[in-house]
Amino acid sequence: MIDKTLQILQRVYGSDFPDLGDLVYLLSLDDEGSKRQLYRFADDVRRKYCGDGILLRGIVEFSSYCRNTCRYCGLQKNNTTLQRYRLTAQQVLDAVDKIYGAGIRTVVLQSGEDEQMDPQWLADIVAQIRKRYNSEMAVTLSAGEWDRAVYKLWKDAGADRYLLKIETSDSDFYAKFHPGMSFENRVRCLVDLAELGYQVGSGSLVGLAGQTMEILAKDIQFFKKHNFDMLGIGLFIPHGQTDLKDSRRGDLETTIKMLAVTRIVMKDTHLPATTATGSISEYDHRIDAMAAGGNVIMPNFTPDDYKELYEIYPNKRCVKEKNFDPVKPIVAMAEKLGRYVELSRGDSLKCRNIR
Ligand code: SAH
Repeated sequence: MIDKTLQILQRVYGSDFPDLGDLVYLLSLDDEGSKRQLYRFADDVRRKYCGDGILLRGIVEFSSYCRNTCRYCGLQKNNTTLQRYRLTAQQVLDAVDKIYGAGIRTVVLQSGEDEQMDPQWLADIVAQIRKRYNSEMAVTLSAGEWDRAVYKLWKDAGADRYLLKIETSDSDFYAKFHPGMSFENRVRCLVDLAELGYQVGSGSLVGLAGQTMEILAKDIQFFKKHNFDMLGIGLFIPHGQTDLKDSRRGDLETTIKMLAVTRIVMKDTHLPATTATGSISEYDHRIDAMAAGGNVIMPNFTPDDYKELYEIYPNKRCVKEKNFDPVKPIVAMAEKLGRYVELSRGDSLKCRNIR
């Protein structure tokens, strides 16, 4: 008789739409043997669908201004102690040059929801990157919720991809952490982005107080329904200047299980080991995420003078170091895992929206 965990792993892997009870069962595994079984299964699915390459995306955090009020995030507008910055177009382009020089072929331009930012300003930056590198360099944006017309402007300027995490797919739970924001609008953004031809990344935040395994299981069903090209599974880290400062940090194991189950359900979706996972201790736990289904890492190329100020959560990995080479530790990690760093654009493995 095959054991129950293996049976459920195979059923989830083989089904077109995963059963909620099966997902909850896998997310709730807590003996070491079964967890190892889950991680190994996810690692096999990753190898089969994505290969052994670890894809890199160089991230530039170009503005820390934000009009939003996400309760967990240090950039939220109610945090009046944070020194805000916005890079100049030249600073962004210089950072992109560094990314290109490091051999990386995807740039991610990320920011808070900066309402003072002129969408045309960002469109011009995208167009300049496109002009300078043709289609050698993929451009990903992650600047929050905007009108469809703005997303179209950026797409027409040459953007390839967009990252916007749903954070949680449960609308009531979403409302608790996003006062004054709209779950429906966030979903609208994700739908618009896909319709406009972006490769779309979403994902969720693991470890918010009151989040149940069932809520996380529903997130995975939401991922499947929208067939995202990339999914970031982050771990919540309390920020001292937010009203969640006394909340417990997200649990690492739950985060890794969430990533592993997402891999088994989504198969070829790109799954990064998020920086938050690597920021909870001296030991870089991104390696655990890479061993349980992850295939992407996003090294930080925000200029030294600013990277510490993009404080979504405290103690972000490596933001204090100057002239730090963010690729070096990833090469070492790849070696440890018996894998390699892949310097390609790393487009979506789903057939839609590939240039
Ligand atoms: N304004 C953009 C970018 C947000 S920052 C947007 O809305 O998409 C990128 C991600 O950081 C968020 O999607 C969120 O999941 C994560 N994040 C925010 N606060 C965090 C915290 N305290 N701990 C861990 N991750 C956090």
